[in-house]
Amino acid sequence: GWRVQHNNVLGPYKGGIRFHPASNLDEVKALAALMTWKTSLMGLPYGGAKGAVRVNPHELSERELEAVSRAYIRAVKDHIGPDRDIPAPDVGTNAQVMDWMADEYGKLTVKPEPAAFTGKSIEKGGSQGREPATGFGGFVVLREFLKIQDTRYKIRDTPIIAIQGFGNVGSYIAKYLSKDGFRVVAVSDSKGALYEPEGINIEKLAHEKEMRGIIDRGLCYAVSGHGRPCQTFSNEDLLTLPVDILIPAALEGVITGKNAAGIRAKVVLEMANGPVTPEADTILEKRGVAVIPDILANGGGVVGSYFEWIQSLDQKYWSEEVVLGKIEEKMKEAFARVAEAKKEYNVNWREAAYVYAINRVANSMI
Ligand code: GLU
Repeated sequence: GWRVQHNNVLGPYKGGIRFHPASNLDEVKALAALMTWKTSLMGLPYGGAKGAVRVNPHELSERELEAVSRAYIRAVKDHIGPDRDIPAPDVGTNAQVMDWMADEYGKLTVKPEPAAFTGKSIEKGGSQGREPATGFGGFVVLREFLKIQDTRYKIRDTPIIAIQGFGNVGSYIAKYLSKDGFRVVAVSDSKGALYEPEGINIEKLAHEKEMRGIIDRGLCYAVSGHGRPCQTFSNEDLLTLPVDILIPAALEGVITGKNAAGIRAKVVLEMANGPVTPEADTILEKRGVAVIPDILANGGGVVGSYFEWIQSLDQKYWSEEVVLGKIEEKMKEAFARVAEAKKEYNVNWREAAYVYAINRVANSMI
């Protein structure tokens, strides 16, 4: 396992811990740097860090998972803390893992330190709205983008959407979008994708997934109400469907130099961290596809964490409505900053986000 601390000029290090069988040090370093730019862009008083354990959490028993979580904290205890480095969930970890970690940390410091972790369960001092925060933030950013979109993207009034990944991030953004009238036609998990051109009933699908732990590939739950055998295919094929907006919400490096030419969406909303490789970025830009970068699109997670941290420090708790309202405001501000930098420097969305994020860090280092 690893914990990488990239930069802390703006405040304590902040970033998730992932449990994934393919994690490695280089990946964690890259993700830690992304957190520095993300917290800077979001206007938070944090630096950037990331952690990982190379393990497949789905192959572990609950007891083993708890043992791994606690052992990780024993190893990094001297480097974390509420004003030093504040971990959170990421791919393959969740509120339960954070609760075990916070408990272990509290034992080691001989007093409870709930503000040393975010993404905790509500019972253990977590925040209302932290669980949907990343998906909700992405939904807010997409709506802001559509308000000012360039006519060249020619997006339908009811935009058609494909989402890769149906974990915490993918399932919540799917829910917010479909509630708001967007048509989500395809979703996937690590085992494959399903496609219903009429639009998928996301509420039903999410409920099924909660009950069984996997996406049911037998029925598609069309919005029209009837369940019929759905079209199933690979995660890779989902990327090239004829949709308006493509949302990679799983892992990094999925849109590459090899498949970017086949992307038919006009907008890619990066809800995963680093899903588009630099080669793919160049190809998409040439083809006029707008890529809304991860450090903006998925910033809602760490913004939600920030509000949890404040509540944990103060021992005062807010309602979900209040928290989501605060997240919405922060996302809109961040979007406006990026849109302004984009205009001023005449660059793409990713470059504009980096201009702002890097400047804020650099100015604090002088
Ligand atoms: N893992 C999330 C991210 O990549 C959240 C990090 C946090 O809340 O610290 O942004």
